[in-house]
Amino acid sequence: MNGTGMLIEKLAREGNLTDGELEMLIRERTPESAAALAAAARAVREKIYGRAVYIRGLIEFTNICKNDCLYCGIRRSNRRASRYRLSEEEILGCCETGYPLGFRTFVLQGGEDPYFTDERLSAVVRSIKRRFPDCAVTLSCGERGRESYRRLFEAGADRYLLRHETAAPEHYRKLHPPAMEFERRMQCLRDLKDIGYQTGCGFMVGSPFQTVEDIVRDLRFIRSFRPHMVGIGPYLSHPDTPFCSQPDGTAELTLFLLSVIRLLLPGVLLPATTALGTVMAGGREEGILRGANVVMPNLSPPSVRGKYLLYHDKLSSGAEAAENLRELSRSIEGTGYTVTAGRGDSLLADG
Ligand code: SAM
Repeated sequence: MNGTGMLIEKLAREGNLTDGELEMLIRERTPESAAALAAAARAVREKIYGRAVYIRGLIEFTNICKNDCLYCGIRRSNRRASRYRLSEEEILGCCETGYPLGFRTFVLQGGEDPYFTDERLSAVVRSIKRRFPDCAVTLSCGERGRESYRRLFEAGADRYLLRHETAAPEHYRKLHPPAMEFERRMQCLRDLKDIGYQTGCGFMVGSPFQTVEDIVRDLRFIRSFRPHMVGIGPYLSHPDTPFCSQPDGTAELTLFLLSVIRLLLPGVLLPATTALGTVMAGGREEGILRGANVVMPNLSPPSVRGKYLLYHDKLSSGAEAAENLRELSRSIEGTGYTVTAGRGDSLLADG
């Protein structure tokens, strides 16, 4: 067995590698090592979750954002973005559509829109929980204060997704304006976990200036933070951002890292993201074969889907939610996995 083969065996056996070994695994990857890693990741994931793939209904409830992240198509300075915000009734309407289709988690994702004060957002969460008490609500609306997170948790929010974006402070500064601070983002993640949310972090693969060392830091952070969920997807450029001519991240490295993350944190909920489905036809299905176990079909009203444009050519179908889900389920079942109703809580072991 060659060097990387031994590393894969060690990673599968011990759920860990040293930083130097992770770096070597990534740098020296080949199609053969990716296949061996994927087989190990599938075995670990099937032991814990079987062949279930959990669905989350994604509701992109506002594309108004006060932040100016250099990579993001809905950044404040993008005057060409056509802005929208869903009303509470429209958000509930998305849940009404999703519930009979089997969705039991609704993910409210949006820009950092100052309209959604704690009062307004808590009211939305409370209404969803009142109408759909057997459903989980996941929030993904950026950085807020600890007290705000606590109020939203008390209103009934169960989970929170906040990608850390990069665990290297100097890399973070290259991706964000000076007003955004690495340490604050990390503090938000600690607060969320501490308050009791099932918490998700994550990063873009191939974001501008990212090095292999940065990726190793991301992996090390993920392993020590022990989030319940990890969202990774390729960086894809947006024409109306300062990073418009930066190259896209690849499906190949994203898929490889999905397997690595599954082995580092066997019980984690790991989505095969829209960005992965955008950069590669069948990317989400391939993600499932590499160790992912979550997909997040879009439940936003078809009229706004074309406006939540984080990057170019975002995968989006004008089809109704039911048709979207039918198609995705059919193609996932073609890979031998089963799209499963239910909340699909994390089975991450404590400790
Ligand atoms: N505002 C919230 C936040 O910051 O967490 C949630 C919305 S934000 C648009 C969701 C995620 O989209 C970010 O965490 C980022 O990783 C991802 N994203 C933004 N621009 C992207 C791009 N150009 N390519 C790929 N992913 C991108």
